[in-house]
Amino acid sequence: MNWRELAACHGEDPELFFPIGDGDAAARQTERARAVCRRCPVARACRSWAVRNGEVEGIWGGTTASERRALRRRLLRQAPEE
Ligand code: SF4
Repeated sequence: MNWRELAACHGEDPELFFPIGDGDAAARQTERARAVCRRCPVARACRSWAVRNGEVEGIWGGTTASERRALRRRLLRQAPEE
């Protein structure tokens, strides 16, 4: 079974997960999206997918794009050099 089939955001308006701008309205929308992600059984898989794929838009696994960039930088620093 694909993790997406268990997503808590099924049935939610997809727009909720793509706040526009950085004002108060966008912050409130981000928190509403995060609330859905907090009750999602596949949040870890969702976040991991978004980080691995460099998803630059929206809320995935309860993270914003800038939070995922930070996670990605941290993962790259931890990766063993070849
Ligand atoms: S973590 Fe959030 S965006 Fe990801 S599948 Fe779950 S509810 Fe949807």
